[in-house]
Amino acid sequence: MSGIFTTHSADETRTLGKTLAEQIRPRTLLCLSGDLGAGKTTFVQGLLGGLGATRPYTSPTFVIMKQYELSVPTANGIRRVYHADAYRVEAHDFEHLGFAEWCADPEGLVILEWPERVEKILPADATKISFVSKSENEREIIFG
Ligand code: ADP
Ligand code: MG
Repeated sequence: MSGIFTTHSADETRTLGKTLAEQIRPRTLLCLSGDLGAGKTTFVQGLLGGLGATRPYTSPTFVIMKQYELSVPTANGIRRVYHADAYRVEAHDFEHLGFAEWCADPEGLVILEWPERVEKILPADATKISFVSKSENEREIIFG
């Protein structure tokens, strides 16, 4: 997916996440940037739902990384999802937790919130999505 999308409700943002789930390939690092309330978590809920991950989709802010094993692999061959949040950690903590291994999993998808916190260890081929709050219900979601 590429380009700029404007959504007008949380549901529309979830639907966009679900659409990405149909296309995303294994061994992708998905970096989600944007201020608090910009819609990152809402988008991830749609993405995880579309991938068929088992609920609850709890935020990994306090656990740093939450791993989902998909009971049914996606058509593209994703079998597990690593949802990570770098808000409370330093790059070296992330390295110790196994960030490089998550990214190298040939059947994995890594979803990373607050990537700017660990910028220096991000691979160059990361996929980037930015979230911008334009008004109360309007969010701009920029792929690439
Ligand atoms: P983040 O994870 O970036 O901090 P959240 O997804 O937790 O953001 O919060 C987004 C908030 O904005 C939610 O309360 C959601 O209902 C609201 N919202 C309003 N309009 C939208 C929209 N178009 N897309 C996503 N969220 C929206
Ligand atoms: Mg969030």
